[in-house]
Amino acid sequence: MTFYHPAEGWSREEIEKAQLTRLRISVQQAMRSPFYGKRMAAQGLGPDSIQSLASIRDIPFTTKADLRSGYPFDFVTVPQAELVRLHASSGTTGSPVAICHTKADLNTWADLMARCMHMIGIRKEDVFQNIAGYGLFTGGLGIHAGAERLGCLTIPSGAGNTRRQIKLIRDMNVTALHIIPSYALYLGSVLKEMGLDPRELPPRIALIGAEPHTEEARQRIEYLLGLKAYNSYGLSEMNGPGVAFECLGQNGMHVWEDCYLLEIINPRTLEPVPDGEVGELVLTTLSRKGMPVLRYRTSDLTRIIPGPCPCGRVHRRIDRILGRADDMLIIKGCNFYPMQVEQVLLSFPEVGQNYLIVLEETDGMDQVRVQVELRDDHFVEDVRALKALQQRIAHRLRDEILFTPKVELVQTNSIPKAEGKAVRVSDIRKQG
Ligand code: ADP
Ligand code: ZN
Repeated sequence: MTFYHPAEGWSREEIEKAQLTRLRISVQQAMRSPFYGKRMAAQGLGPDSIQSLASIRDIPFTTKADLRSGYPFDFVTVPQAELVRLHASSGTTGSPVAICHTKADLNTWADLMARCMHMIGIRKEDVFQNIAGYGLFTGGLGIHAGAERLGCLTIPSGAGNTRRQIKLIRDMNVTALHIIPSYALYLGSVLKEMGLDPRELPPRIALIGAEPHTEEARQRIEYLLGLKAYNSYGLSEMNGPGVAFECLGQNGMHVWEDCYLLEIINPRTLEPVPDGEVGELVLTTLSRKGMPVLRYRTSDLTRIIPGPCPCGRVHRRIDRILGRADDMLIIKGCNFYPMQVEQVLLSFPEVGQNYLIVLEETDGMDQVRVQVELRDDHFVEDVRALKALQQRIAHRLRDEILFTPKVELVQTNSIPKAEGKAVRVSDIRKQG
C-alpha cells in the first residue's frame, strides 16, 4: 500500500509520541492568544502541565459559545500580518465563528486533504470537479487545495446550476468529484430526468460529506451517479474537511490523529465514554499555529469503531455522524434524530430523493408530519396504492421512532431544496 504521507503508516506508539510533543506545542502556542492566555492562567495551566496525553483532561473544554465570545480575533496567536486566510462556519446553528490560518496552516490543511483523496484512489491523472460553495464554507477552497496539491486538473464549479454541472462533468471527462449528499441525490434525479445513464458517465469516485446522511443515502448516491462515494468529515473550527475520512473499506472514517487529538465524551457527565459507545466528539488541533483550538466540543455524535481496519492504518475510525446533539427531537415523549427517519424513508424504493420533517401543533399537541417525495414513476394515480404505501411507511417509522407520524406523499421536486446543507426539519409550532 502506498501512503501519501508517512504519518498514515505510523504505529500507535509513533502516533502517541508525536501527539504528546505536538500537544505541548499547541498549548504553548494557544496561550499566546488573548482567550487561552487568560483562561489557562486562571486555571494555573501551561505547557508543563502536559505530562502525558491523559493530562489533556485538565484543560477545560472549548465550546462554540467560547469561540463566538472571542469573535473575531481573540483566539489568534500570531500578528495579523502572518494570517493569510479567514473562514467562518456556515452558521447552520447561529452566529458565525471566524477561523484564521497562517500560510503554514493552509499548507498542512492542503496536505491533509490530499491525503484523504489519495487514500480513496484519486491521483494526479484525475479530473476533479468541486461542486461546493466557494465562500466562507470550507468545502470550497479546502477541498480545492487538496485536489490541486495532488495534481488533479481541478474544476471549481461551485454550487448550484445542475445542468451546467452535468455538462462540465461530461465535457471535461470528470473522474472524481466532491458534492454534498443531499445535492448528490438531487443531481442523481436530474440525470434521470435527462435520460442519462450514470454508468456511462465518467466519474468513478465522489467525496460526500458536510452534512449528516445515512448508509441508505450513500448507496443511493452510488447507484444514481454510478460511482463509489466516500464519507468526508470536518468542521471549520478544525480547518474544515480533512479531519476524518473513509478509506476504501467504507466502514468508518479514520481521524488523522497526527494532526487531531480525539476524545468522545458523554455530553451530560463530560466523562469519556468507552470505545464503541456513542458520545460527543471532542477535538484538539495538534498542527495549527494561527489559531489552535483545545478540546473543542463539536456537538457531533458518533462513536469509535473498535478494532483494527483492514486497510492497515491505525488512525482510529469514527462512525458516520448521527447528528448534532441539538438535532435530537423530542415529540410525544419519544427522542429521535432526523437520520433515523431518513434511514427508513430511503429504504423504500418508491421514495424519491428529498423529504422534510415538519413539526406542527394541533389542538395544543405536538405533531410530526413527514413529507416524502415519491419517485416520478411511482407517483401513480391509484389512490388505494398510494394509501397503502403511506401506511407501510408510517408503520416502519413507528418501529424506528416509537410513535406514528403523519406521512404525506408528494411529487418529485415539490419540497424546496436548500442552497447549501439540507434542511431536514421545519418547526412551525407556535412559539411560547
Ligand atoms: P456549520 O457548523 O455552520 O454547519 P461547518 O461548515 O463548519 O459549519 O460544518 C461543520 C459541521 O457539519 C460538523 O460539525 C457536522 O455537524 C457537519 N458535518 C460535516 N461533515 C459531516 C459528515 N461527513 N457527516 C455528517 N455531518 C457532517
Ligand atoms: Zn481503513
